[in-house]
Amino acid sequence: FWSQVLERLQLKLSRPTFEAWIKTSTPEELTDTALVLRTANPFAKNWLQKYYMPTIVEVVHDILGHPVEIQIKFVPGADGIGSDDAELFYPFTIDSAPSEPLAPQATNSDLNSKYVFSRLVVGPNNRMAHAASLAVAESPGREFNPLFLCGGVGLGKTHLMQAIGHYRQEICSTANIFYVSTEKFTNDLITAIRKDNLQSFRDHYRAADVLLVDDIQFIEGKEYTQEEFFHTFNTLHEAGRQVVLASDRPPNQIPRLQERLCSRFSMGLIADIQPPDLETRMAILQKKAEYENMRLPREVVEYIASSYVSNIRELEGALIRAVAYISIAGLPMTVENIAPVLNPPVEKVEASPEAVISSVVEALGVSAEDLKGSSRRREISVARQIGMYLMRQHTDLSLPKIGEVFGGKDHTTVLYSCEKMKDLKENDPNMAQTLRQLSDRINLASQARK
Ligand code: ADP
Ligand code: MG
Repeated sequence: FWSQVLERLQLKLSRPTFEAWIKTSTPEELTDTALVLRTANPFAKNWLQKYYMPTIVEVVHDILGHPVEIQIKFVPGADGIGSDDAELFYPFTIDSAPSEPLAPQATNSDLNSKYVFSRLVVGPNNRMAHAASLAVAESPGREFNPLFLCGGVGLGKTHLMQAIGHYRQEICSTANIFYVSTEKFTNDLITAIRKDNLQSFRDHYRAADVLLVDDIQFIEGKEYTQEEFFHTFNTLHEAGRQVVLASDRPPNQIPRLQERLCSRFSMGLIADIQPPDLETRMAILQKKAEYENMRLPREVVEYIASSYVSNIRELEGALIRAVAYISIAGLPMTVENIAPVLNPPVEKVEASPEAVISSVVEALGVSAEDLKGSSRRREISVARQIGMYLMRQHTDLSLPKIGEVFGGKDHTTVLYSCEKMKDLKENDPNMAQTLRQLSDRINLASQARK
């Protein structure tokens, strides 16, 4: 019965809608008068109730020949969706997304199906790494061999690396593409030695057309793994096979790495990935939302994006939490409503007093003289209070010193401003957002200078 319902609904609904909301639900109980559907995704529950109920009712009525009442039940963890907390409410677990082709594709089980080029936002921070990765996928073993991707945690190294794998596999379905973590490489090696089976280990890895090794920094100090990897690398490289490595730091900063490996790692291209700027972070959130067929108000995107600066995984996590909260609470998606669940860890970067002043000047359109002067015009005095608060957040200056920077104000004035801003930050979402954006600017300016 349910498969009939699915068949009909599939015809009536758009594919993304069907995949996202219907396919993830299962019938739990069917009586003469009622059908209970179960979903593991609280967002699906809301969505189905809000928009698709009449269609489902109609189809079920049609098939059963009599009307039934339909209930949707949210059961956390049902049908395997969301085995951990983050995934539980993750509305993007749907494996087929709107813009991906329908045709069967070459798949590689080592690779996460979400880590494809089409899902990656390209910004100034990863443009070069992205371009190099594309080039490598299109013509492996040529220009950039090895390609060494480096960047901080959660900036997309694994995503980019696997995108190379997917794309290569798509271009050449017979290619041997291996993705391994350094840990797995090490474990495989240990197992091979223990089973006296080194030859099959070597045969395996040396058969790769493209070898993707993630988190290669973990090879540090592992002498035997380094030895073996050195030979694997050489064999592949000499045969014109592509090697791609990812690391949280450049080769010459990996401690206890054999000199000869360090030089091998550096002989192709080292492409780094930086933290994304605000605009790129917003684009990343927008893209996630698109895959979800979800409309996010611009302020919400901006708010989340300005709260999470240097780790895209955390940025995504924040969106997931926000969506989950909103859907469970049944609230509209607004900055005010999501603020309580985000508790943004505004990452503070030490900045110079000048950097703070110039960020305030640029963003709020007041002059530095105004900030240091004694005008009581409202926009100026608010900007001054904001400036003092940010100075307190981003520098080590004492209250009296901050007073001096602002043209010789008393330290009690500085204290008052800081307290007031702290209060507004907690109680006035608009002010909270302004402060966060300013912090973000200061962080970016200071990071850029470093
Ligand atoms: P790393 O390996 O550098 O720690 P990941 O590749 O695991 O980081 O990325 C963390 C998360 O952020 C992943 O879910 C990934 O899809 C996402 N992500 C990273 N960079 C981008 C990007 N440029 N556009 C869209 N999503 C991204
Ligand atoms: Mg990674």
